[in-house]
Amino acid sequence: MRLVIFGPPGSGKGTYSTRIAPVLKIARIATGDMFREEVKNNTQLGKLAAMYMNKGEFVPDDVTMKMFKERLKKPDTKNGFILDGFPRTIFQAKELDKITKIEVIINLIVPDEILIEKMSARRMCKNCGDIYNIADIKKNIDGVEYLLPPMLPKKKNVCDKCGGPLYQRDDDKPEVIKERLEVYKNQAAPVIEHYTGKIPFLDIHVTRGPEIMVGKILDEIKKFNLK
Ligand code: ADP
Ligand code: ZN
Repeated sequence: MRLVIFGPPGSGKGTYSTRIAPVLKIARIATGDMFREEVKNNTQLGKLAAMYMNKGEFVPDDVTMKMFKERLKKPDTKNGFILDGFPRTIFQAKELDKITKIEVIINLIVPDEILIEKMSARRMCKNCGDIYNIADIKKNIDGVEYLLPPMLPKKKNVCDKCGGPLYQRDDDKPEVIKERLEVYKNQAAPVIEHYTGKIPFLDIHVTRGPEIMVGKILDEIKKFNLK
């Protein structure tokens, strides 16, 4: 099974792909997490990536491609994968086309207003990268009801999984969020266009919390009868 999950920053890509991958027994490949790991380990790649990430910009394509190709070689990808945060540019999409054929694109749709509120409330574990959210959103936008509950850790500011401290990513701060949304819109449009008509899109309007949405995504994926 070879899936890609698309969606603006803050749409829940990380949460959904993290929960879906083990159910489908496929690997989750998240380039953003991989870059953060490199930054944490203070590697040469990490130092380079941080210069772009801290400004809300993309890491250069050649650097990203090299890291991605290495990741694909790992044995956990034998049943397939879900790509989160990749491909982000036309160059990356074309390179990916040369390597493999994606079967379905899960396309998360969320209004900007909700994204900004949610992203400002995101907290991440410094140790293992687990994601939490302290916002409790109840909103009606254009007649659609959004009920997005918080994802709180059991103990305030402490990771449930590993006990590590939670923090707010530098790129989840309001000034950077707006920049990221702009970057996303400009860069995502051509990538989406690249795949339109070639690969089926599974459009998912994120109107409820992860419990409900994950179930919905899995139900919809089943309908494609992938191996
Ligand atoms: P989000 O989805 O919330 O934007 P990610 O964790 O996917 O966050 O990515 C964080 C940062 O890592 C991005 O802002 C970018 O700088 C870098 N990054 C991640 N994936 C890619 C990619 N495919 N190409 C270039 N840069 C990337
Ligand atoms: Zn943790």
